[in-house]
Amino acid sequence: MSDDCIFCSIVAGEIPSRTVYEDDDVLAFLDANPLAPGHTLVIPKAHHEHVQDMPNDLAADVFAVMQRLVDPVESAAGADGSTVAFNNGEVAGQEVPHTHGHIVPRFDDDGSRPIHSIFG
Ligand code: IMP
Repeated sequence: MSDDCIFCSIVAGEIPSRTVYEDDDVLAFLDANPLAPGHTLVIPKAHHEHVQDMPNDLAADVFAVMQRLVDPVESAAGADGSTVAFNNGEVAGQEVPHTHGHIVPRFDDDGSRPIHSIFG
């Protein structure tokens, strides 16, 4: 756990979140400012700032959870597909320095904007 990390505070239960999935090492919850209904974040519970900071087995666990959640998130949102992505580093738009994957439901009528467009 890292002091002053909002996602560590969510893991610790100090800040409420809407949990989508949880196991010993990985937590998924709804994004507080969703880019689309059902926008879900998947994080390692342990604090790692960047994708490459995670041990390989933890990175595999995080990705496996993302892969497992794509269908149920899309289905719950009534989506036609999804953008699955990490912003990695401040220059890439990473605002929360605790690595997290995004699952953003996409819709046939949302313009099929590419990833750099939907993340601003
Ligand atoms: P980033 O730009 O890839 O770092 O994405 C950070 C994401 O975290 C943004 O989509 C925010 O809306 C989301 N976020 C920030 N604080 C919270 C929170 O307390 N709960 C849920 N999502 C949050």
